[in-house]
Amino acid sequence: LASTDVQPFPTVLEFPTGKTGGGHVMVAAGPCGVESREQTLTAAHYVKAHGAHMLRGGAFKPRTSPYAFQGLGVEGLKILAEARKETGLPVVTEVLSPEQVELVAEYADAFQIGARNAQNFALLQAVGEARKPVLLKRGMSMTLEELLMSAEYILGRGNMQVILVERGIRTFERATRFTLDVSAVPVLKSWTHLPVWVDPSHPAGKREWVTPLALAGLAAGADGLIVETHPEPERALSDAAQQLHEHEFAELMEKVRRLSQAL
Ligand code: PEP
Ligand code: MN
Repeated sequence: LASTDVQPFPTVLEFPTGKTGGGHVMVAAGPCGVESREQTLTAAHYVKAHGAHMLRGGAFKPRTSPYAFQGLGVEGLKILAEARKETGLPVVTEVLSPEQVELVAEYADAFQIGARNAQNFALLQAVGEARKPVLLKRGMSMTLEELLMSAEYILGRGNMQVILVERGIRTFERATRFTLDVSAVPVLKSWTHLPVWVDPSHPAGKREWVTPLALAGLAAGADGLIVETHPEPERALSDAAQQLHEHEFAELMEKVRRLSQAL
């Protein structure tokens, strides 16, 4: 269902703030995790002011350690809904289990399936039953073929609004947190009609490398970006080293605009 043999023209997804696919680029931005009302509303206002089309923020966080911050849960979803009301930005947030799909759908405009859940087939089928866009991240050890097979689990249940997200894979390189597979963008775009986005934050692992990776993704043909930014990144409860300061996010958006004009 994802194949260009089935559908030769690009899938274009429309949100109140913009479109993605078929030459239309969108940027989702916001904190890694929703930590407080003030933190999330502050981020929502500035990402909108700098031109983002969507707000991101995790209410349920899939953490490697069970002792790390797990997110605010339902309280976080309510904060995201308030941020949407105040800014008009649609909200994308991660859903961790099939049982959570209905709850998350009540508050969010789009589901995020995290890298660690990219082959949670019951979860993929559950968001496939929903009628909201799904940002499907590539698992850190998944081939592109496997990523497309995961997308098929969603599409097969009738939800055709799937965005594929390259977010870096595990390689022998340890300088960066993951290795952004830029080639995933042209390869996926030749195989599938679905929009392809890049998450430059998680592969970079470090603020100063986020913008170059974002620009590389767009130059390779990505239909969107999902970027982490926090009003006080040093104090973030997750992914502190990679979240952009507001001024860095503003500079990124300016470069995104200039690059888009050049392409
Ligand atoms: C995130 O977006 O904060 C996240 C947990 O991403 P990933 O699933 O790609 O690690
Ligand atoms: Mn994160």
